[in-house]
Order: sequence, then structure tokens, then C-alpha cells
Amino acid sequence: VSREIEVAVVGGGPGGMSAALAAAQAGAQVTLFNGYSRLGGQYYRQPPDRLLAQASRRQRQGRELWQQVQAAGVEILSEHLVWNLEVDKTLAVANAGGTTMFHPQALILATGGYERLAAFPGWTLPGVMTSGAAQALLYQGVLPGKRILLAGAGPLQLTTAAELLHAGAAVTAVLEAAHLFKRAFPRAWGMWGQWERLIEGMESMLALFRRRVPYRVGWGIVAARGEKQVEGAVIARLDENWRAIPGSEQEVDCDTICIGYGFVPFNGLSRLVGAQQIWQADVGEEVPVRDSKMQTSVPGVYAAGDGAGMGGYRTALLEGRIAGQPPRPVWGIGSRQQRQRFKR
Ligand SMILES: Cc1cc2nc3c(=O)[nH]c(=O)nc-3n(C[C@H](O)[C@H](O)[C@H](O)COP(=O)(O)OP(=O)(O)OC[C@H]3O[C@@H](n4cnc5c(N)ncnc54)[C@H](O)[C@@H]3O)c2cc1C
Repeated sequence: VSREIEVAVVGGGPGGMSAALAAAQAGAQVTLFNGYSRLGGQYYRQPPDRLLAQASRRQRQGRELWQQVQAAGVEILSEHLVWNLEVDKTLAVANAGGTTMFHPQALILATGGYERLAAFPGWTLPGVMTSGAAQALLYQGVLPGKRILLAGAGPLQLTTAAELLHAGAAVTAVLEAAHLFKRAFPRAWGMWGQWERLIEGMESMLALFRRRVPYRVGWGIVAARGEKQVEGAVIARLDENWRAIPGSEQEVDCDTICIGYGFVPFNGLSRLVGAQQIWQADVGEEVPVRDSKMQTSVPGVYAAGDGAGMGGYRTALLEGRIAGQPPRPVWGIGSRQQRQRFKR
């Protein structure tokens, strides 16, 4: 089965929703594909209907954006996974009914990112998961464990620990591998103006402090212990290269281990379509090269949000809005309304 469409947006997170909304409001016929059943992506991850009454501010904001996208007439294809993309922009999309080929005139990729992992002995035991997975379970109303150890690098560990505490779990400790005082604090001025982030961070720290949860900087996980499931962990002080310092190992009691070492942009689709990539050292991955309109090196293919570089939800919203803005010569073949705008 195959279908001709005007504008395809892949991804229903902040970037994809804002791109779809901008394009639809400008008169384009937009089809949005999202792997999950609900729009929202990672940041606005939506709760199931039974937990709607307890939705957080963030989830309510996401729901509002989702409703705006619906009201703008966007065709939303949830539980539709784009599993291939040809250089002529043909999308292979799978859902429960099988695969359909879509041929869009313009394409906006807003596929987000995923968590970076580092393996250790025992990491395949049940009870080891990413912090994002723990968050996803929490938002479904499920506690991932009872005594939880979080290890990795970056603010998600802190946020997740605070959320777990709030939900009633016991957090054994939060281990931050980065030597914050040596590495991050000299660059702390970069956080100037990021008040929302700073407040979030301070609130999380406060939640840990109130519950006397140790926050160990320069520490990491060495191994998970257990036969059939996590029963404990070995942790250790780390050197500057994040190698365990011999003799500093300690045994920790826990039934769940949440890990995560920052995020990696998901560039799979932009690679498949042949978009030129550039190495981004701070995220340790290649990202598509884009012009000021978010267009990649492939005419008519745009990229927005974390999939094009980890910028957070605000950047994703903004980039989505820019990517969804006609007129562009390549978009001119779209709706009558668009063509008129372009002529003007
Ligand atoms: C695990 C995790 C947890 C995070 N937690 C926080 C947090 O607590 N606080 C915070 O400020 N930021 C958090 N972030 C970062 C924040 O969520 C992002 O900056 C923001 O959501 C980026 O928006 P986006 O639209 O680019 O991507 P996302 O929100 O990631 O949305 C991408 C969407 O694309 C869909 N998708 C991807 N590939 C395909 C495909 N092939 N076919 C169909 N659909 C596809 C996915 O289903 C998803 O819905 C987190 C990120 C991750 C990965």
C-alpha cells in the first residue's frame, strides 16, 4: 500500500508537535507519525487516562499542545513507526496492520534522542534499567523498585531520584560520575539565564537532602550483584577517566539500578535519507548539518529538536516552529494557500 502526502512529520514530541502545528497553521496538509500511542515525546510524556487527574504541569502543557495539533487538522498517526527512509523521502511506516509506504513532498524529522549507556558486570540482570525507563514506569503509575540506586552522569539522575522519592520509593544513593567541581563548575556561568533548569535542579537536590539520600560526586557503579535479579551493587570512587579507583569499592543494598550517561541524538533517519552529518563533540555523535530554516543538505528534508542536537525541549519547540514555517521553494508545490503565500 502506498500514499502521496504533502508534509510528513516524524516524531510526536515537542519538536514534532510544534513543527506540525506551524505547518498546518500555514495551510499545509500535515501527517504526523509517532511511535507511541500518545503525543508528548520524552518531555511531555503523557499519563494513561486513569491518571489524568494527577497529571503534572508539564504533562498538562503537553496535552494542550497535542489538542492544538489536533484542532489544526493534522492527521495524527500514533503507534506508527517509521522503519525506513529512502533518499527520495519515501517513508516505510509500520503499524499493527502492516507497512505502508508514504511519499511526502516535504519531510520534518523530529525523532528526539536516547540515553547513553555504559555496560558493567551484571547489567543484564532484571532490575537494571535506564533512568528514562524508570521515569516512563513512574508516569504509568508503576514504581520500578523499592530500594533504588541511580548511577551515571547528568541532571536526569537527580530529577528521576526526586520523582522516585516523591512516588514513595527509597533511593539508596545517587552517583554522579563527573568530577563536578573540577570540570563542570568552572563552566557554570553557561547556566546563567537557565533559571527553570536551575530551580528544577535545586528542588531535586532539596528532595534528596530532606530524605538524607547521599549524592556522591565522582562515584560510579562497578557491578550489579544478584542471581536472578538485582540484589545489590558494588560502587567505587572514579578517577578523571571514570575508572574505578582500586580499594575504594563498597557494597550497596538495592533491588533496582537506574543508569544513564547523558543523551545521544537519534540521527538514524537523517542518515538514511543521505543528509550530510557533522560531528558534535559535546554529545559524542554526528548530527545533520542544517541551514537557518532547519533544512538539511537534502532539499525538502528538515530536522528539529534533540534528533538534530541535544538542546532540550525549549529548543525543540523553537526549531520545530521554524522547520514548519513555509514558504520555501520546495514547499511551494504544497497547498494552494502556501503557493499564494510564496508568490507574495
Ligand atoms: C529518556 C529521556 C528522559 C528525559 N527526561 C527529561 C526530564 O526529566 N526533563 C527535561 O527537561 N528533559 C528531559 N529529557 C530531554 C527532553 O525530553 C527533550 O529535550 C525533548 O523532549 C526533546 O523533544 P523532541 O521533540 O526533540 O524529542 P522527543 O521528546 O524525544 O520526541 C521524539 C518522538 O519521536 C518519536 N519517534 C522517534 N523515532 C521515531 C520513528 N522512527 N517513527 C515514529 N516515531 C518516532 C518518539 O516516539 C517520540 O515521541 C529527556 C530525554 C530522554 C531521552
